Amino acid sequence: MSQRCYYEVLGVEKTADGETIKRSFRKMALKYHPDRNPDDPDAAEKFKECAEAYEVLHDAEKRQRYDRYGHAGVNGNGQHFSSNSDIFSHFSDIFGDLFGFSGMGGMGGGRNRPRAGADLRYNLEITFLQAAKGAEVKIKIPRQVLCPECEGSGAAPGASPAACPDCRGTGQVVRSQGFFQLQMPCPRCHGQGRVITNPCPRCRGAGEVEQVRELAVNIPAGVDSGNRLRLRGEGEMGLNGGPPGDLFVVLQVQADKNFERRGQDLILHREITFVQAALGARLELPTLDEPVSFEVPKGTQSGQVFRISGAGLPYPGRGRKGDLLVELGVLTPTGLNAEQEKLLREFERLENKKPLNKAKKVIKKMGSAMWL
Ligand SMILES: [Zn+2]
Ligand SMILES: [Zn+2]
Repeated sequence: MSQRCYYEVLGVEKTADGETIKRSFRKMALKYHPDRNPDDPDAAEKFKECAEAYEVLHDAEKRQRYDRYGHAGVNGNGQHFSSNSDIFSHFSDIFGDLFGFSGMGGMGGGRNRPRAGADLRYNLEITFLQAAKGAEVKIKIPRQVLCPECEGSGAAPGASPAACPDCRGTGQVVRSQGFFQLQMPCPRCHGQGRVITNPCPRCRGAGEVEQVRELAVNIPAGVDSGNRLRLRGEGEMGLNGGPPGDLFVVLQVQADKNFERRGQDLILHREITFVQAALGARLELPTLDEPVSFEVPKGTQSGQVFRISGAGLPYPGRGRKGDLLVELGVLTPTGLNAEQEKLLREFERLENKKPLNKAKKVIKKMGSAMWL
């Protein structure tokens, strides 16, 4: 494997002085720091490369050998870092003031690695009309955010976390137990490697505070109960520079007094008298928009369903709409007066000569097409 020139790696001249090399390394380390590039494995490699280059060039003797013999001159003695935590412990004096807390990343069994924030779930009840038409609804989300006072360091303004005196900043302590030596997370700093001697008054050293955020949720027209809306990056904050989680808004749509819902179709139940059913009638029906005038055809049967195309709910994100299905129930009259009864007897006498064969045919046909 060919190795890049160390000067090139750090982007400095061969004649650069120690201070320039140190400054350049800090700049590079900041850029490729794994906490800042959690999803980029190349960054971690570059970070390691920079560390190796710096390890040689900041040491006068090693640098001289490197200048004279190239990589061969230092390979035997040059530091080869197997992990980021190696680098952190080796250069802890530089990283300490560079990165504050997260600069000790990778120590203590990965406890300080960048971690994505948790996703949050929010149950939102909306009205039928909001679901049908779409709406912008404001919600309030309590969540943990970086303390604005100390920017997450947990230290009081002006003070910075100090290297833990018990573990000297490594986050690990060695305990002897019988014949064994056990390495364990430092109990004083909980493996963080740093302690806060002067905690931030706002968050009491926690580095985070609860904040209630008001968010506007855009509800697309046509959503249904159980639909989830994802608000990227609105979940809990990440740890050690990790990305925040997402917020999932789970919708619960209230029932409507007029319409029953079946997918994107709406069902409307209406009752008509048997005279209206027999003779036909004009009804005014509610829809999601303006009421419409609906013509009940002559000879309508109870339970018959009429379809008004495109008067249902929109399919979210598509132009298409469902239908409005009108189910008509025929009411049988009660409490007839003498004259009405007489007229119905007369009606029956005339009807007896021609039984309701046509109606039977209609009902039979409806039966095969029944879906409600
Ligand atoms: Zn704070
Ligand atoms: Zn400690």
